[in-house]
Amino acid sequence: MQKETLLAHHNEHCNVVNEKYANTINPPLYTGSTLLFDSYEDLLLANGGNYQGIDYGTDRLPPQRAFEDAMQALENGYLTRTFQSGINAIINTLLTFTRSGDHVLACENVYAPASRFCRNILKRYNIEVGFIPPDIGEEISNFIQDNTRLILLESPGSNTFEIQDIPAITAIARRHDIVTAIDNTWATPLYLDPFALGVDVSIQSVTKYIAGHSDVLLGTVTVNERCAQTFADFYQAMELFASPQDCYLALRGLRTLSVRLKQHEYSALTIASWLAEHPKVRTVIHPALVNHPQHHLWQRDFSGASGLFAFILDREYTDTQLAAAINALDLFGIGYSWGGFKSLITCGKYYRATTSAYTGRTIIRLNIGLENQEDLIRDLKKGLSLLP
Ligand SMILES: *Cc1c(COP(=O)(O)O)cnc(C)c1O
Repeated sequence: MQKETLLAHHNEHCNVVNEKYANTINPPLYTGSTLLFDSYEDLLLANGGNYQGIDYGTDRLPPQRAFEDAMQALENGYLTRTFQSGINAIINTLLTFTRSGDHVLACENVYAPASRFCRNILKRYNIEVGFIPPDIGEEISNFIQDNTRLILLESPGSNTFEIQDIPAITAIARRHDIVTAIDNTWATPLYLDPFALGVDVSIQSVTKYIAGHSDVLLGTVTVNERCAQTFADFYQAMELFASPQDCYLALRGLRTLSVRLKQHEYSALTIASWLAEHPKVRTVIHPALVNHPQHHLWQRDFSGASGLFAFILDREYTDTQLAAAINALDLFGIGYSWGGFKSLITCGKYYRATTSAYTGRTIIRLNIGLENQEDLIRDLKKGLSLLP
């Protein structure tokens, strides 16, 4: 055998050593485009679409399947598929359940790139999108049209944390045969069970708490039985798949999700309560605080709060003033995304067409990481002291 040939054959079946299978606790990290068939007969089966195994790298390799199985069980759903990112999961949900001529309703507080996709891209395919108030409940009836096919919720929503009355909405949607989807990234399946509230499709940006270490971009969509066939067929037809390495990391993140979330919840609540008493803070926007406008819905539907919340200051400061305060923070990184071990801060003004208490106000959003909460409070105290 020449060296070229040896190199090409080296290490096949290396997970079997001396006829014993290498039985690691975690599933092995498979990567690959080609999967070898045992025989010509198997190739014939694959050619005819009847092969029972995985026939190609796009056909969801074992790490992806292992992660999807875990998510499906955690979500208590019927079927899960993984996407290259959370936004990709949302976009494909919108595409799966709509066609030309349909009407979609989306909450105003959905993740901004999701609403941008609705406005700029769906429109091109003759799909009309109506935006609905972020704290909507049974008033959803007023927005439903004959051609409404899909309702996209996010609760609590991005940056302003309004909560929707999910069971009221799903009860009405059912009567009109409308699919309801929720972006459940904030609560994760541990703190909100969308299927128990009548939702058909639950979306996760796995990038956040599930992966949990700011080193992965990934999303999942889990559906109930009613939506499973349509969804699985669409996923396959679009030849979607996720990177095995990222699925491996996401599965690893899942193992510690519950303990991490408890710590995020405790620290965030401690810090939110401290901020609420601070003289330079007007309002803390945290669903678990009694002054949150939909606190009663959070209490009714959620079993916990994660570590992301926001606040507004006593008055509007200039960017120069804000820069002095925010740049002075040692422990809070300035950056997008959240759900990781490091505390982060972002700041901005968010447009809402319907009347909102936050119109024109700068919203400061905190991702509370896993640092000691007294250290984080000391850091925030220093930043706030620099505001005039
Ligand atoms: C970050 C985020 C997404 C998008 O997730 P990516 O994995 O970053 O694409 C979707 N929804 C919400 C609520 C998010 O915060």
